[in-house]
Order: sequence, then C-alpha cells, then structure tokens
Amino acid sequence: MSETEDAPARLETVRKAIRRAERTAGRPEGATTLVAVSKTFGPDEIEPVLVAGHRVFGENRVQEAEAKWLTLRERYADVELHLIGPLQSNKAAEAVALFDVIHTVDRPKIAKAIAKEMAEQDRAVRLFVQVNVGEEAQKAGVALSELDAFLAACRDDYGLAIEGLMCIPPVDEPPAPYFALLQKLAKRHGLAGLSMGMSADFAEAIPFGATHVRVGSAIFGTRPRP
Ligand SMILES: *Cc1c(COP(=O)(O)O)cnc(C)c1O
Repeated sequence: MSETEDAPARLETVRKAIRRAERTAGRPEGATTLVAVSKTFGPDEIEPVLVAGHRVFGENRVQEAEAKWLTLRERYADVELHLIGPLQSNKAAEAVALFDVIHTVDRPKIAKAIAKEMAEQDRAVRLFVQVNVGEEAQKAGVALSELDAFLAACRDDYGLAIEGLMCIPPVDEPPAPYFALLQKLAKRHGLAGLSMGMSADFAEAIPFGATHVRVGSAIFGTRPRP
C-alpha cells in the first residue's frame, strides 16, 4: 500500500487486484463484492471514495456508523452498509435499522434479537454467520463444533435466512487453509455467501470463492486504532 496515493487511487488499485484475481481463478468479473471498511475514518475521508463511485462500505461499531452514515446517506442514498464487527443484543434495533448486511451473527441471543427487530421494523437484513475458524479463545464467531446446530437454530427457531459464512483467520498463520475450510463449510450447508479476505490477503481469498472481501487500510490508509 502506498501512503502517498489518495484513497480513490488506492481504491482503484484494489479494484484492479480483485478483477485480476477473479480472472486468474476463472471466476466471473464482479463475483466478489468489495466492502470498503471505513471504520475509524471520518466523513471527510470517506467522501472521496463515494465521489469515486464506490457504494459498499463496512463498519465495526453501530454507534460510530450511525454518527457518520445517517448524514452521508442523505447525499448518497444508494449506499449499502455492512456491519462487520461484533453486535450486542441491546444494539440490535439500531443495527437492523442502519445496516443492509450483518456479517457477525454468532450466537442465539443475537440471532433472536435480529429476528425480533426485523419483524418489528418490517425490514429484511442480509445475514452472515461468523465462524471462529481458528478456534481462538479470544475471537468472536461460532465454534466449528457448534456450527451445524447454530445454523439449524437460525433457520428453525428464529426463521432467519442465512446468506453465508464469514471468518477472520488467525493473524499469525497463512490464511489459505482457513479460506478453504470456510468454503467447504458453506458448501456443506448450501450457503452461497463467503465473507473472507482483508487488506493483506483478499487476493488469496478470491480463488476460494470469496463473495465479499472486507478491505480497510489498503483503501483508506493506516488506522489510528484497530
Ligand atoms: C477492520 C476489519 C477489516 C479490514 O481490515 P484491513 O486489514 O484494514 O483491511 C476487515 N474485517 C473485519 C472484521 C475488520 O474488523
């Protein structure tokens, strides 16, 4: 990543790298949606990327996202917002109202709260289940051993249509085996969506069928905090 380029230039570089990876993998152009992760960046830094024509953005905190996007959306109504960070059930109402896609469904309490809010607000949000692929104690996501039961509960107990799976592989290991694992799990459950790949490894996720890559610093630059 070049810090001397501006965000629109880096966006274009990332877009091209995605197209190249799609071609190399023999996947159709546009098979992978770029979620531009704008967490920690303010409206002034986000707007040039909107002006460049990008419309799909990711945020990891509900309140931070509300503060920025309620205003930006008045001017860019066709923005598609993705929640990629952990969700607390007391924020489910705000999350369902603001976001179009939630990538981090990972426990019954959240699934239930989302289902209740979708019914009350008469709003359909697209949903991904986060999987703790590295079985890391500190990381969010459904444990591998609980995925079957959790997906069944989402469907049968809460009436939720899950679109796909999401993962954040362990930072200190090559990600490819984890991308392969998530692809296998999604296939086994008949799920079309695969949210995987970040700035450092999005091109590696594409051969494994990533439908959504979540790219922050490669577009917006280095963040002050994670
Ligand atoms: C911050 C974040 C990203 C983007 O990370 P970069 O390395 O800056 O691309 C992607 N996914 C999740 C879940 C994140 O929290």
